[in-house]
Amino acid sequence: MIQADGAPDREQLMQLVFALRQNGVRDPRVLDAIEKTPRHLFVDRAFRDRAYEDIPLPIACGQTISQPSVVGVMTQALAPTPRCKVLEVGCGSGYQAAILARLARRVYAIERHRALARQAAERIAALDLSNVSVKAGDGALGWPEQAPFDRIMVTCAAEDPPALLLRQLREGGIMVLPVGQSDDVQHLIRITKTPQGLDYHELMPVRFVPLLEGVPEGDAP
Ligand code: SAH
Repeated sequence: MIQADGAPDREQLMQLVFALRQNGVRDPRVLDAIEKTPRHLFVDRAFRDRAYEDIPLPIACGQTISQPSVVGVMTQALAPTPRCKVLEVGCGSGYQAAILARLARRVYAIERHRALARQAAERIAALDLSNVSVKAGDGALGWPEQAPFDRIMVTCAAEDPPALLLRQLREGGIMVLPVGQSDDVQHLIRITKTPQGLDYHELMPVRFVPLLEGVPEGDAP
C-alpha cells in the first residue's frame, strides 16, 4: 500500500532491499543508508507512487534519478567510511548524495543544472543532513579548493575517466564511475589509486546520461 504522502510501508521497503540484495548489495551499512533515505522526496510528485520500485525515474531538466540497485552497487563499490571526504559529480536529484552523507564525513556534490543543484540542496537540508555541500558547475573540473578526495563518484558517463578528477583523488582513494559512449553500452568501473598507479576493476554494464562539458546556456554565472 502506498501511503498518501508517498512514504513507503514495510512491504515496499522489504521489496526494495530484496532487489538490492539480488544485485549483490550486501553491505549492511549501505542497505541501512538506503532504507533510511526517503526516495519519494527526491522524485517529482507524479512519480511518488513508483519511488520504491527498482527503476530509474525522470527528474527535472531531462535528467534521471538512478535505479536504486545501481545506487547500491556504486555506493558499495565506493566503500565510503565515516572518515572519508567524498566528491559526487552529477548530483541530479540529490538522492545519491543523501545516501553518501550517511556513510561519509563530508560530501561535496556538483551538478551542471543550477535548478537541480538548488533543489537537491533543499531536499538534503530538509533531511537534516548537514555534511553536504552542493554547487552548480562543471563537475569534470572537480572541486579543486576541497581536493584531495578520499572517494569520488561520478553518476554521468564519460568516454574516459576525467583527468582532473583522477588528479583530485587521494592516493589510496577510490573512484567509481560509468565509462563509455552515451548511447552505447557503458561499464561501471572502480579505480583505485595506488602508489604504483591506477588499478581498474570492471563492475557491470550500465546506462547513464552523458557527462556534458560546461554549464547549460542561461545557467552561466
Ligand atoms: N546522482 C543523481 C543522478 C543524476 S543523473 C541522483 O541521485 O539523482 C546525472 C546528472 O549528471 C544529471 O543531473 C546531469 O545534469 C549531471 N551532469 C552531466 N554532466 C555534468 C557535469 N559535467 N558536471 C556536473 N553534473 C553533470
